Amino acid sequence: MRTNMKTLLTPAAWLLAALAPAAAPQAAPPAPLKVLATVPAYAALAREVGGPLVEVTTLCRPGQDIHAVTATPSLVERLRDADLLLYTGLDAEGWLDPMLRASGNLALLPGGPRAIAMSDGVPLRDVPHQVDRSQGDVHAQGNPHVWTDPLALRTMAAHVKDALAAERPDQAAGIAARHAAFHRELTEALVGWLTRYKGLQGQRVVVHHRSWSYLLGRFGLVEAEALEPKPRVAPTASHLDAVVQAMRRDGVQVVLREPWQSPDAAEHVARETGARVLELSTHPEPFEDGADLLAHVERTLAALAQALGVDVPAGP
Ligand SMILES: [Zn+2]
Repeated sequence: MRTNMKTLLTPAAWLLAALAPAAAPQAAPPAPLKVLATVPAYAALAREVGGPLVEVTTLCRPGQDIHAVTATPSLVERLRDADLLLYTGLDAEGWLDPMLRASGNLALLPGGPRAIAMSDGVPLRDVPHQVDRSQGDVHAQGNPHVWTDPLALRTMAAHVKDALAAERPDQAAGIAARHAAFHRELTEALVGWLTRYKGLQGQRVVVHHRSWSYLLGRFGLVEAEALEPKPRVAPTASHLDAVVQAMRRDGVQVVLREPWQSPDAAEHVARETGARVLELSTHPEPFEDGADLLAHVERTLAALAQALGVDVPAGP
């Protein structure tokens, strides 16, 4: 004869079993922190250190100049309910303040506690003795393109760790663990790069805009000239003539240009001197699914070495 639970239980026990609550529901995980990053490198750091705790929006696309981001309605909408902002500071993102004001999210205005200036603590290059806005106003407090230096990325990863832990103190241990793993991986990679790319030391390159200064300086390359007479001031014929003379004198073979910069000036000086133009972005890609910062640095160094004809020992 078949039995079932109902027939085996006394009526009182059956009633109790029927009324017993189901397993207690798990507490829902807190909503991810909405992090805004001005450039893809800061977005990548937020994802490395924040893992599942963050939802990241990048304001400057990989094909865009950090100095020239324009507000779109959808971007302003994303700013509205963001929790944290990772930006450079040093006046690099002049468009940021009006965009935040348009969104109404005043808590993220630069200078506030939820706006993290990633250049803090990074030794700056090209700091003018006197701030002179007539010199072009985008590097008036020093060169802001700090994210191109892998050593500076360590300082910035620590900023991200501190900011996320302050927002999610109950998750501080996980944040610290992810940060420690990234810090270790980056440090090992940096030691490897400094060894394998020693041949880049002393190599001279010309840049369109002074956006590579930190990377070039870290690996001992010489930023011989810039095609822009001042940051974000379009090249003039007389300035390009002077650059061509200097390139001929010093035998400079490579001109670096980012994708958003007009190719005309770079192609002109390359044609005049027999140098080659190397198009590289300071922004890591791929973008939407999370850039791999370390792979980006490796690709950049490999492209420089190849363009300069520098032999590089195989990777680890
Ligand atoms: Zn710049």
